[in-house]
Amino acid sequence: MRLFSYFDADEDRTFGIAVEGGVLPWLALDPERLWIDAPPLVELDPSVMTAFAGDARLALEQMAHAVDEARNRGVRPLPLGSLRPAPAVWAPGKIVCIGLNYRDHVAEQGLDVPTRPTLFAKFANAIVADGEPVVRPAGTHALDLEVELGVVIGRRASAVDATVALEHVAGYVACNDVTARDWQGNKAALGPGQRGDGQWLRAKGSDTFLPVGPWFVTPEDLPDPQALALRSWRIPGAGPQAGEVVPMQDGTTADMIFRIPELIEFVSAAITLEPGDLLVTGTPAGVGVFRQPPVFLEPGDRARIEVEGIGSIENPIVDGSA
Ligand code: MG
Repeated sequence: MRLFSYFDADEDRTFGIAVEGGVLPWLALDPERLWIDAPPLVELDPSVMTAFAGDARLALEQMAHAVDEARNRGVRPLPLGSLRPAPAVWAPGKIVCIGLNYRDHVAEQGLDVPTRPTLFAKFANAIVADGEPVVRPAGTHALDLEVELGVVIGRRASAVDATVALEHVAGYVACNDVTARDWQGNKAALGPGQRGDGQWLRAKGSDTFLPVGPWFVTPEDLPDPQALALRSWRIPGAGPQAGEVVPMQDGTTADMIFRIPELIEFVSAAITLEPGDLLVTGTPAGVGVFRQPPVFLEPGDRARIEVEGIGSIENPIVDGSA
């Protein structure tokens, strides 16, 4: 099943289910059909729309029936183009990100393959929707993009073994892990005498640094999350390439060093993951900072990322220093 998150006429975030011809609003479904023994499949509170509860497979079947029934009742889907996308997750209790998780991305930095995952965090302040601005804060000149597969937790995961970890996944989203490379401490982004922050919190966690796409795809519709193409582009707003769609990254989730089950095992051994929490699983090679010469996102540019089977998002870069 593919869910699409959008802003309704009251600017509230809501979602619908992708059907032929558009998106069937969640509220058009008969809630009686969505109630299973335990809590409902998806709470009406949008902040936990991704909290698949109880038996996810049964719940998905029920949801499919409810969609069929709504269509039989003559409920018409909303055309996709009429909807303003909202992030598919917007208030996760935790956003746990993985650094250095692709072999080609490690290689482009001349680093050894890590022996355990590198974790860092973002907060919900970083999340923006497809089309919303990424604001370059005062004090950095070196914004970069990172296309990533986002994994949304559907069932509490505490000390979960990798062999059963995927049972705790509600679905997948597309993310852009925007990064200030100078604050991160990347040499290629630093001038003489400049230093990074010593850790990544500001470089990764600034407001608007996590565009999240509107599409939420359940595991049934994304049977092999370890075989997805990941691509990104920069669309310069000025200069000789103005308006061109310039390819940046072109990788695959097959290149992950630590795969999704191992990541859930590693993280949940120390940090309990709750429904709605988001894992952002790392990025392949081709980011701007490791190019010769380095390339950074400038105000006026747009950054586009795409995860195969989920969708693409595009965000303008704006100057936040004024
Ligand atoms: Mg990243």
